[in-house]
Amino acid sequence: MELAPRIREIAPSPTLSLDAKAKAMKAEGRDVISFGVGEPDFDTPDHIKAAGIKAIEANFTRYTPTGGIVELKKAVVEKFKRDNQLEYTPNQIVINCGGKHTLYNLAQVLFSAGEEVVIPSPYWVSYPPIVSLAGARPVIVPTVQKNDFKMTAGELTAALTPATRGLILNSPSNPTGSVYSRKELEALAEVVLEHKLIVITDDIYEKILYDGHVFVNMANLGPELKNQTIIAHGLAKTYAMTGWRIGFLAGPAHVAAAVDKLQSQSTSNPCSIAQKAAVAALEGPQESIGVMVAAFDERRKYLVKALNGIPGVTCFSPGGAFYVFPNVSAYYGKRFGDRAICGSSDLCDYLLDEALVAAVPGSAFGEDSCIRLSYAISLEENRRGLERIANALANLK
Ligand code: GLU
Repeated sequence: MELAPRIREIAPSPTLSLDAKAKAMKAEGRDVISFGVGEPDFDTPDHIKAAGIKAIEANFTRYTPTGGIVELKKAVVEKFKRDNQLEYTPNQIVINCGGKHTLYNLAQVLFSAGEEVVIPSPYWVSYPPIVSLAGARPVIVPTVQKNDFKMTAGELTAALTPATRGLILNSPSNPTGSVYSRKELEALAEVVLEHKLIVITDDIYEKILYDGHVFVNMANLGPELKNQTIIAHGLAKTYAMTGWRIGFLAGPAHVAAAVDKLQSQSTSNPCSIAQKAAVAALEGPQESIGVMVAAFDERRKYLVKALNGIPGVTCFSPGGAFYVFPNVSAYYGKRFGDRAICGSSDLCDYLLDEALVAAVPGSAFGEDSCIRLSYAISLEENRRGLERIANALANLK
């Protein structure tokens, strides 16, 4: 049976495929250290789990309004007021089945065939397929390590054509950990306003910041920009809730209504139980975030120093998220016996097969000179994994 071109033309998510492969190897009893998937190694805090259990016991197990329960929409409105000084009303909020679903829905309601969407690279693996699945064309704008992997206003302007409809910004970034400052966003904002671009910001790593970095969203730069920006967000990373699948958006009411309509014809409501847990996450104690970020920070500092100590490797120090993105291209062109390392994909295959270390090739993020390590594993595992990587690289001739 022939499949539709739209699904034939996209590849499976490389982060999730790698995670599945690493988990399968572990299940076979192999001692794999996984720097693969970006998933906090912490448990969902107890008070959030308790809210989920309570929801089940209270039989809150039926359909809810398609775009989410009012109680959760109000908790999201409060979150934006409290954390971001942004005012929204509940009809500007939609609750989705995870942050990826939020982005998918937005692309479906905003972009069409013949339109272009700018995506700075390195980018998260799912942005280009999400844009393609909406029929639009992702336009990749490469950034450079010298600019901390951030797109400049000049680079954005150079990528624009009459078909450009919008752009996707992600700060802190997956995979680089770069954080845009207010000043950098202001420079991009001038271009956005001049060309009336739609801005989708993926703020999933908002709370995971280091070294005094401050989170700013394009919507903070004034009412006009707020009207052109849709914030895609979720609970997975902040509250260690990856499996609960709760994402949300904030933006113009007509965009929210369109996403609600799309959900009514596709997924229906996000899980009722997870929505109740999400209310507890947003309204309950927030201390668990600081504990998690402190642990990530210790690992980050260790990894950046250790990676920069490996001959030929350079590693940018990320200001947020929980990834490092070292440049390992000095090892391309080398060999291990019959195995030639021609790029990041070969290198990651080699690391998994020979060193039992899972890392994601930079090519999956549009930057082949690097590989991505997620440090959402214990400090001890980070150390053991790094030792294996250093030895494996030293064995390449
Ligand atoms: N965002 C995470 C990552 O990049 C989760 C996996 C995924 O959905 O891609 O690893």
